[in-house]
Amino acid sequence: MIILKIGGSILTNKDSKISEVDAASLNRIASEIKASMDNSPKQLVIVHGAGSFGHPPAKKHKIGEEFDESEYPQKRLGFCEIQNEVKKLNMFICEAFIKEGLPAIAVPASSFITATDKRITEGNLDLFKNYLAKGFIPVIYGDVVLDNELEFCVISGDQLIQYLAINLNPDKVILGTDVDGVYDKNPKTHDDAQFFDKFTSLKDLDILEGTTNVDVTGGMVGKIKELLFLADLGIESKIINAEVKDNIFKVLENEKVKGTIISRGN
Ligand code: ADP
Repeated sequence: MIILKIGGSILTNKDSKISEVDAASLNRIASEIKASMDNSPKQLVIVHGAGSFGHPPAKKHKIGEEFDESEYPQKRLGFCEIQNEVKKLNMFICEAFIKEGLPAIAVPASSFITATDKRITEGNLDLFKNYLAKGFIPVIYGDVVLDNELEFCVISGDQLIQYLAINLNPDKVILGTDVDGVYDKNPKTHDDAQFFDKFTSLKDLDILEGTTNVDVTGGMVGKIKELLFLADLGIESKIINAEVKDNIFKVLENEKVKGTIISRGN
């Protein structure tokens, strides 16, 4: 079984102020997945990010931060707004997949997962496994969930990858994003960024410029941390560029694709 994450960065126009799907990317990725499924049928789980659908409302409502009891109704409504926004993106994605002939079924995290201090602590994957066993492609995505400590929190697609990989024992974990993999600094803003074929420990993070500043690293550090945790459990993953045509097809077909492998040293 393969767990494939498609980053919000590829599926949405992140710079746009309004929630906008990148239809060309989405349709191309859907057709690459279909071509691979036709070529060699396999169990597949899709995780996708929230991109421009989730981040602005999550920021606006400060979900995941502590708040006064009096703010509860407002926060609750904010929670609903975010859940609804990410669901819209998911709908576009499932629609594109179904049109391609892929049996995509949405399984929203907000409907079966609970967190404690922003980490997933409860969730029953029986239904998820059942869908997989019956040949569906479960699609799960960055979402809001109830939190035992903070009432509400955001769960990223990257944390979902980690949770699913631990519980579903996949043969492969692939993350498609909008860069070739991990560099020592943001390749979008630094022409001299050095590429890494492999990451093996948290210590490797020290070589990243600005690792203490979330804004500078734009989500890459959080991603690597989740994946290194998986590596410690013996589950290898690979970050690849899903914007490069045929990369998704090739990686699903075990063909060589440039990317950064996150694994234990040995
Ligand atoms: P996604 O939405 O695909 O999950 P993110 O936008 O969260 O991806 O993270 C990918 C982005 O991280 C890239 O577009 C890149 O600009 C940025 N980034 C920041 N630092 C790095 C780095 N050291 N190596 C690679 N990408 C980086």
